[in-house]
Amino acid sequence: MTISEILGQIQSTSARAVVENSIKLATENESYHALLSLTSERALKRAADVDSGKITGRLAGVPFVVKDNFLAFGAPTTAASKMLENFDAPLQATAVEKLEAEGAICIGKANLDAFAHGGSTENSAFGPTKNAFDTDRVAGGSSGGSAVVTALNIVPFALGSDTGGSIRQPASFNGVVGVKPTYGAVSRYGVVAMASSTDVIGHFTTNISDAELIMDIISGRDERDMTTLPDFFEVENETKPNQKIGLVTDFMTDDVDSEVRAKVNEYVEKLRELGHAVEEVNLPMAEYALAIYYIIVPAELCSNLARYDGIRYGHRAESIKTLAELYGKTRDEGFVTENKRRIMIGSYVLSSGFFDAYYLKAQKARTLLINEFDKLFENYDVLIGPVAPTPAFKLGENTADPIKMYLNDIMTVPTSLAGLPAISVPAGNNSEGLPIGVQLMGSRQSDAKLLSLAKSMETK
Ligand code: GLN
Repeated sequence: MTISEILGQIQSTSARAVVENSIKLATENESYHALLSLTSERALKRAADVDSGKITGRLAGVPFVVKDNFLAFGAPTTAASKMLENFDAPLQATAVEKLEAEGAICIGKANLDAFAHGGSTENSAFGPTKNAFDTDRVAGGSSGGSAVVTALNIVPFALGSDTGGSIRQPASFNGVVGVKPTYGAVSRYGVVAMASSTDVIGHFTTNISDAELIMDIISGRDERDMTTLPDFFEVENETKPNQKIGLVTDFMTDDVDSEVRAKVNEYVEKLRELGHAVEEVNLPMAEYALAIYYIIVPAELCSNLARYDGIRYGHRAESIKTLAELYGKTRDEGFVTENKRRIMIGSYVLSSGFFDAYYLKAQKARTLLINEFDKLFENYDVLIGPVAPTPAFKLGENTADPIKMYLNDIMTVPTSLAGLPAISVPAGNNSEGLPIGVQLMGSRQSDAKLLSLAKSMETK
């Protein structure tokens, strides 16, 4: 379902009818567990304001969903954790505010891996989300709920966050478009922090034009997030002809599912038919990207999660006698196993005895990776490769082995570490009917160029 189709429906019926229908679809599809809450009361009130002409804008009456790590009114902001189970947002995230300023209507909060730690939505404290195409399989993650509500046409778009692949991978697993913008393109104000140097806000849509529209609305400088860039995004209606595109061979090895590779190769052929030149390129540092990521990200997230101490926000343990017990019990009860694992890794790599050997070394290696990307973008407009090594895996398949789970992030973390824009574009289904996405990666602030190229490919 596209945004313009929804706007047409609002024209011919009413915003109220459209929002009611979206809430009805959400309820009918409850078994996917894509949503943690509905914000029906507030949504219907806003729909009435659209119908009366009080609320106007480019998205007047268009329903959407936000990942439940965004502060938004109408339901608690849980980050899929017991820690924030009853936390009511005192303000709304800038991205949500910007969408509301254009008349969009949030109808619910999507499931995720608790605090966005994961790649399957199985780490949610409230149970996993099921894949839109096969309910025995994972939705991907951590923005699994947002991907599934878009794939099931409950809403035409949804917001997510991507720290190491959390928009792109679930988009790929559910056959929708997923956009991870340039670091700093979209304000993170009002979004529960995971790893501050790679967190970005982005979105899921069913087509590229809608992805461009949402990007246009949510991006831009925000005084409340000092890492945001001056507004640079402008939709490119003319796709640059004869682009030079690099196929990242490090992501096309025999370890990658053969049908995934076949879909990437098909996409490459179509790019060539459109007149673009595609050459194989190497990104040798990609081999180290996972190791770098799983040192830097836990280090940053363990600092960000230190604020959940039972005193200032959210859950507080009961019947405690000492301060240490208050911290310990609150955090034990409020975090899931994966949160604790990462807090322990983060504390370890930041500890005085190991800081140089792990954290500092990882930051140096990260610079080498960034330099490799920069060199490639001197010669290439866009890089291409798979989003993940496999299509959606089975629920429970990787939960016993965290390393196996982390391996799924191997193709999405490099651009996260480098702060580069990357999008996941549907490229068809495998022989079992599971969707496969192709990843397009660009230089800093080339978001519009990437989307434009993907748009020109949609009709191919
Ligand atoms: N799967 C990755 C991780 O577990 C990415 C998470 C994310 O982008 N929030 O860290």
